[in-house]
Amino acid sequence: MVIAGSTVQATSARDHDIAVAMRPTEAELVRARRRLHRKAVLIAALVGVSYWGLVFTTHSVVVTVLAAVGLVIGLTATATSVFHDGNHGSFSTSRLVNRVAGYTGDLMGASSWIWKFKHNRLHHGNTNVVGTDMDIEQAPFARLTPQQAWRPWHRYQHVYMWLLYGFLTLQWFLISDFVDLAQRGIGGHRFPRQPRPRDVIAIAAGKLLHLTWAVAIPLMFHAWWVVLVVYVSVSWSVGLLLATTFQLAHCTALVEFAEHDAPRRGEHFVDHQLRTTADIGRGPSVGSGAVHWMMGGLDRQVEHHLAPRLPHTVYPLVATRLDRACADGPERVRRYGGLMPAVRAHGSWLRAMGRRPV
Ligand SMILES: [Zn+2]
Repeated sequence: MVIAGSTVQATSARDHDIAVAMRPTEAELVRARRRLHRKAVLIAALVGVSYWGLVFTTHSVVVTVLAAVGLVIGLTATATSVFHDGNHGSFSTSRLVNRVAGYTGDLMGASSWIWKFKHNRLHHGNTNVVGTDMDIEQAPFARLTPQQAWRPWHRYQHVYMWLLYGFLTLQWFLISDFVDLAQRGIGGHRFPRQPRPRDVIAIAAGKLLHLTWAVAIPLMFHAWWVVLVVYVSVSWSVGLLLATTFQLAHCTALVEFAEHDAPRRGEHFVDHQLRTTADIGRGPSVGSGAVHWMMGGLDRQVEHHLAPRLPHTVYPLVATRLDRACADGPERVRRYGGLMPAVRAHGSWLRAMGRRPV
């Protein structure tokens, strides 16, 4: 379904009610931030131990594989739970701590300066708005919305896109950050202010630091082809997990896509976010807690989109209150009922959008 200008009702009073109903207390926020900081220490330890096992210990295949799996989990959790929260200003009450948390993305190869514009401004401010939300612009590789142009190779996108998703972080590191800087914006949307010399230095330093820890240091201890295989494998796995995390919330038949003139700010904000974003929701699987942990709470993307400046460790509490508030009105939170139904829904959407439009 496509949201056009006329189909959205003004709901300012309800928006206000929902925002108030889901708001955590100051004490709940303090506890949530403490949980987030403990989690960050655990993630740092997992990344450190895995990296040490991968680079500095004996070269056994078993240790290498186990350490690589640990590193994939640790880096994915860093991106979803430290980098993402930091860039939204929700990791800490301190601006400096948020900037340091956000800079972990640079250490992973992706510029946090560019991400903030692409994610905070274009994606959160224009969720699923075709032509503005760059998360749903994957041309020419994929057609993700009914409004986008169809190409013959899109017939197979439900197969090859899973492979391409894995190169998300690698292409940030090697291609898109440089293209965006050269074009002074993303997809025709100019940066609100051009990067200052110190921003460019920070971006370049992040790329160099990434190259140092991920490639140069391992090369001192291992053959080049081992470093290449492990680097590409870890990077591809992290990219696949991250891309899937974001696509499940916005690219399925459960949510809607909007035209550029659809009202989406002010009194229309809650309505727009509830239409264009879905929660994975809890399935019967015992792994739901692990999924929630590794996804940095982004199995609850609706709550994240309604209140992006809250630490993700408070989402479960906020979700209960949001459900209660929605029960009293016409709104509904769209949920899949588990990870696998969500993955299947995205696969089906890729297949549907890959068919030649009639
Ligand atoms: Zn976000």
